[in-house]
Amino acid sequence: MQPPPTGVPTALGTVSELALLLAELHPTAAARLACDHVADTSGRCRLCRSVWPCTLHVIGRDAVAHARTTRLPGR
Ligand SMILES: [Zn+2]
Repeated sequence: MQPPPTGVPTALGTVSELALLLAELHPTAAARLACDHVADTSGRCRLCRSVWPCTLHVIGRDAVAHARTTRLPGR
């Protein structure tokens, strides 16, 4: 797995700027990336065929996790 191109320190560790933007602007898209980019039986992403976890899965997963930690009660 390649690390995201740019890291931003957060409570969850270093998260890519893209993951932070996605968490803030479109958490539904983040969840979809994390769910759609899953491993097949050969250890590759079922959707983009990269070695799993692929970059899109990592960005989506980090965005979902970040959105959960920053969501205000009642939102
Ligand atoms: Zn993928």
